[in-house]
Amino acid sequence: MRKQLETERLLLRPWEEGDAESLYEYAQDPAVGPIAGWPPHRSVQESLDVIKNVLNGPESYAVCLKDDCRAIGAIELKLKGHTDLTERDDECELGYWLGKPFWGRGLMPEAARELLRHAFEDCGMKKVWCGYYDGNTKSARVQEKCAFIYQRTNKDVDVPLMHEKRTAHVSCLTKEVYLKQFIAYCGLDCAQCDARIATVTHDDELRVKVAKEWSELNGVEITPDMIHCTGCRTDGVKTPYCESLCPIRRCAQGKGFKICSDCDDMNRCEKVGAIIGNNALALDNLKGY
Ligand code: SF4
Ligand code: SF4
Repeated sequence: MRKQLETERLLLRPWEEGDAESLYEYAQDPAVGPIAGWPPHRSVQESLDVIKNVLNGPESYAVCLKDDCRAIGAIELKLKGHTDLTERDDECELGYWLGKPFWGRGLMPEAARELLRHAFEDCGMKKVWCGYYDGNTKSARVQEKCAFIYQRTNKDVDVPLMHEKRTAHVSCLTKEVYLKQFIAYCGLDCAQCDARIATVTHDDELRVKVAKEWSELNGVEITPDMIHCTGCRTDGVKTPYCESLCPIRRCAQGKGFKICSDCDDMNRCEKVGAIIGNNALALDNLKGY
């Protein structure tokens, strides 16, 4: 069976025929489909047909709250042959929508970040494309939050299911830009950090190992439940130290810097010096940012 993906609040799992009623509940809403290019569903049977014939791609997921596992939205990596945005095997298109009652809670950026992680780290993608039709500001905001970069605007694009033409905006995220998000303020690479790896792979054994090692290294008790971190500069859970105690993160955030290499004082700074003095890779990451 295909792997499920997980975030702090969400489970992303393959669609099942039993999701037809919840799909219909949210997809019948005229505020949801038309702005994304498809008409509201008219019956549970139509939703069932969509599950069987449309939401059946190898990287198509029902977005569910972990609490009850009900499908409240959809997210997909559209692979070659199922997207107009690329013809390459190592590129794909991200598509998504969420039921209206769940808007405004940051759930779709949370789901999109996990699917992007999956695309780049598990599926070997080099570039992920994404688009939105003019006026779909919510979709644009998700792309902005996930570091997509605007590429072009296409006018008079056919929207076949709505029998009309629209203006479409296209953006993309390269693996290089995706990985840059995981360079911490101090230059350490969060993508290589075992705390992040344990978090994104839900590996409790690794959590226990990291907690033990960090306790010995720092001379304080660090418990496995503290080892939850998605990265220094990305949205999402952090270890208690990184969240509120790390002097470098607090300082750089307080000064409004994207990263410490933006700071004119970096070469004189003892705080960041304690990291880059012993870690040539961190220094390289800062220099190359
Ligand atoms: S911020 Fe989190 S992921 Fe990054 S180095 Fe610190 S613990 Fe690891
Ligand atoms: S003084 Fe500058 S280099 Fe040092 S921690 Fe603050 S932002 Fe980073």
